[in-house]
Amino acid sequence: MVTPTFDKVSPLTGQKLGSYPLSTRSDAASAVADARRAFWLWKSTAIESRGRLIRNAAQALEKHRDELAELVRRETGKPLGDSHGEVGSAIEMAYMLAAHGRFPSGNLLPSAIPLRQTRLQRVPLGVAALIITYNAPIPNFAWKVFPALMAGNTAIVKPSPHTPASAEMFVGILHEAGVPEDVLRVLHGGGEAAVGMIEAGSELVSFTGSYSTGAKVAQAAAKTLAKTVIELGGSNPLVVFADAALAAAAVTATESAFSNAGQRCASASRVIVENDVLDAFLDEVAASSQGLLVGTSDDAQIGTLIDGASARAFEGFLAECEKAGATVTRFGHLRGVADTVALPAVVTGLDPWSDLGSKEVFGPVMRVYGFGTEEQGIELANATEFGLTAAVWSSDIVRAERVVSKIHAGVININGPTHGAEVNFPFGGVKNSGNGSRDAGVQAIDAYSDVQVVSNFFGV
Ligand code: NAD
Repeated sequence: MVTPTFDKVSPLTGQKLGSYPLSTRSDAASAVADARRAFWLWKSTAIESRGRLIRNAAQALEKHRDELAELVRRETGKPLGDSHGEVGSAIEMAYMLAAHGRFPSGNLLPSAIPLRQTRLQRVPLGVAALIITYNAPIPNFAWKVFPALMAGNTAIVKPSPHTPASAEMFVGILHEAGVPEDVLRVLHGGGEAAVGMIEAGSELVSFTGSYSTGAKVAQAAAKTLAKTVIELGGSNPLVVFADAALAAAAVTATESAFSNAGQRCASASRVIVENDVLDAFLDEVAASSQGLLVGTSDDAQIGTLIDGASARAFEGFLAECEKAGATVTRFGHLRGVADTVALPAVVTGLDPWSDLGSKEVFGPVMRVYGFGTEEQGIELANATEFGLTAAVWSSDIVRAERVVSKIHAGVININGPTHGAEVNFPFGGVKNSGNGSRDAGVQAIDAYSDVQVVSNFFGV
């Protein structure tokens, strides 16, 4: 039977970038079977050798960084500088994890029995099904693939149907660097391909995407008892106290809310400001946003949304906010128009506890709320089903630390943005933002491996 295909269209140019297979459950099952056959050889490869291959991959990515960044721009509509930054962070991730092949790992455990020597070691799980989203296609890929391979698993990546081309190029670069084709491959398609990988018994299921899909993934993986890494959305608060460096807070909030056209799990989509400085803060946000260049041109600082449907959904959200009595103010200058472009919006006057006021919005929006007391600020920060990232702005460091201790989030910055993870920082959230696992950091090796306890009885 001929596998059906889907087309990828550039949100930047409207032109078709390519056609990709819409893989079925049975395609997924045979990919998992192939990856399982390759597992035993890959697992028995010395970790130092796997590290060398990952280092080669980093060098190959450096060699191809311009063409990869250019492709990401065409595929996602983001500015070239942002695409370059994302490729750069994938390279950093590869170098950091490659070095892990020379790091000490494991522990010796004390025993109640004389001359029993017991060690705890990390061992690979098997086939890793890696299901990812489109907003940062290269880091999303690198965050999962490098730890999965370093830990000794074979891996199948199911990229978002919005970003098949960069996934194809990324995996091609890794094959060119020497990563065997049966150790890492890409499976294109939608939910059916992803579910197929889980049902075929992949031992590790790592997912980055929305809460609603993540909950389905967790349910499907529960049937096979696969280990899961589930990284989901956010509706992240940036809290500004009256004693904060206001102009810097506004510039940072603008960047956190609008960069990547707001398509960020860590975007500052809810900004919570002490009433005394609310008007002054809004003036500062207006000053830092009004000159933004938005669109498809090469000088645009904010690019497109991933497709026209997403841009229409974003406009629909803003229309609903207005219907609910909120004020929506748009900023920026259009530079190159397409149906995928949306001007950034600041929304005031929403009920922060309502669905509109608290949900995740994958577009360039900053909902701003005022607060009176510190306790009210903390309550508003936590007024969401999510708990991914947060930021607290104050020149009173004691207060800032006190507030941090009461905010439910996996990542919190004081006097910084809500985004901006580094490769050695474990990333993930609480509440509906994830299942407690972490991508990135050396913690990722633990997430992508199992623990084994081996004892040697020297007294025999
Ligand atoms: P999505 O859940 O729609 O899709 C994510 C992936 O799941 C895609 O590859 C998709 O094809 C696949 N999929 C679809 N149906 C499936 C099913 N039934 N079973 C298994 N997989 C299925 O998410 P999206 O709209 O592509 O991504 C946006 C979301 O991702 C936002 O919520 C954002 O916050 C989140 N995100 C989280 C992080 C993080 O690290 N926590 C990072 C980036 C994005």
